[in-house]
Amino acid sequence: VPELPEVETVRLGLALGVAGRTIERVEVSHPRAVRRHEAGGGDFADQLAGHTVLSAQRRGKYLWLPLDGPDALVAHLGMSGQLLVVPPDKPLEKHLRVRFVFADGVQLADEPAGRELRFVDQRTFGGLFLSPAGLRQEDPPTALAHIAPDPLEPAFDDAAFIAAVRGRRTGIKRALLDQTVVSGIGNIYADEALWRARLHYARPTETLTRPALTALLGYVRDVLSAAITAGGTSFDALYVSVNGVSGLFDRSLEVYGREGEPCSRCGQLIRREPFMNRSSFRCPRCQPQPRVPRW
Ligand SMILES: [Zn+2]
Repeated sequence: VPELPEVETVRLGLALGVAGRTIERVEVSHPRAVRRHEAGGGDFADQLAGHTVLSAQRRGKYLWLPLDGPDALVAHLGMSGQLLVVPPDKPLEKHLRVRFVFADGVQLADEPAGRELRFVDQRTFGGLFLSPAGLRQEDPPTALAHIAPDPLEPAFDDAAFIAAVRGRRTGIKRALLDQTVVSGIGNIYADEALWRARLHYARPTETLTRPALTALLGYVRDVLSAAITAGGTSFDALYVSVNGVSGLFDRSLEVYGREGEPCSRCGQLIRREPFMNRSSFRCPRCQPQPRVPRW
């Protein structure tokens, strides 16, 4: 599942590959991909034709492309969504859902003319839709206004995050995954940040001091930034950049997906445990179970 670093890698590719270009036409080949656009795929295509993409923006796991009009195009990759910038003669992907063809008047420096944008989604949990744009391009569109800032945004309020987590009365990992507390963190980066902070995932939030949460936030930022530098984590091979390239951060994972392998800090074997219908990975020595866990 793409988390913040994977979505940021896609955003960087869209900024290079489609920003500044005018949409000539849009072809919707699967209605489920635009299910949040109530007027349907034909209307979705009509609304977009002729508009210019101004930039590529992100908050948490959501992307949006501000347009030269009242709306922004919002994209959520879901489980398996891919946004690919490809030459027009590339054979159509099996799971192609939406195709954007651009009217290329301008030759961009880094991008051969004529490349198109394709939304490919094997499991179709992702989707595209239009939403009224924010005041500035970097302000989230109306539909994303409820998403909390992510820890890499300048607008992120550390004190408000710490207060929200401490007031939550839950386990720390649940708080990190709550997109109304902090956005962009999913299972992989929560486990990695908690390992760095030496915290068990079920540690009750009200037992964490401000300094401990400040340190955890620092580890969250460290791991997200390192993952962006590596182009994200392609754990299940579904996530790729706009050029179809896999991320390399899976080589740097300390606990996620490393069940039975030794902890790089203490040598104990990493454990995998059920958590919210998924799994949590931890080192049993570095991240011991709290006496009164909150799951
Ligand atoms: Zn350890």
